[in-house]
Amino acid sequence: MNNALILLIEDEPEIVEILETYFAREGFRTISANDGAIGLAHHQRLKPDLIVLDVKLPGLDGFEILAAIRRRGDTPVIMATALAEDLDKLQALRIGADDYVVKPYNPMEIVARAKAVLRRTSGRDARQQIRIGALTVDPVAYMAFVDLGTGQRSLELTRTEFRLLQCMASSPNRVFERSELVDACLPEGEALERTVDSHISNLRRKLASAGADGLLVGVRGVGYRLGDSGG
Ligand code: CA
Repeated sequence: MNNALILLIEDEPEIVEILETYFAREGFRTISANDGAIGLAHHQRLKPDLIVLDVKLPGLDGFEILAAIRRRGDTPVIMATALAEDLDKLQALRIGADDYVVKPYNPMEIVARAKAVLRRTSGRDARQQIRIGALTVDPVAYMAFVDLGTGQRSLELTRTEFRLLQCMASSPNRVFERSELVDACLPEGEALERTVDSHISNLRRKLASAGADGLLVGVRGVGYRLGDSGG
């Protein structure tokens, strides 16, 4: 895990310096960018293993940068926000951050979270593709698509949506309780069952618009299941 490259997108030089010191102490390499455009260029060119992303930046803000990173792939991202409101955290997680910290934070905490995120994301198992009806989930390529016989329509999913889909696809037709899905799929520090409902609702909408409606169904008072038996 170490020797991993961490991209710091942060406009406060003192914070960059502190983070560089703490990450270096644990054997990580770092590169920094003081705005989003430079950060995105570094991301494209250097393919960092993890990004620590400040929300308040000149030019593009952290959410816009995160969205751009997610359009490209699944590089793990930890958001650093000075805004403690839950709404901001939820927004960060919904558009695909892996974790967040609230400023001012302890640099040791960021390093610990980075290690945890890297452990979690590098431990993805290399199973075969899972097929359920017209849906295929590929845990290795980290992608999912629907094929109705007229070509593949890939699903543009957030990390959390993908995790939910992968988890449920691993046991077709089994009903998953909300609390199980929270534990298995939601980022650390985000444990609201209502949040699962919101991710699931987005996932269903995306499945439906790719032609796979009816695959993911709610089981009243319990949770959800993914399967092609329900039509
Ligand atoms: Ca800032």
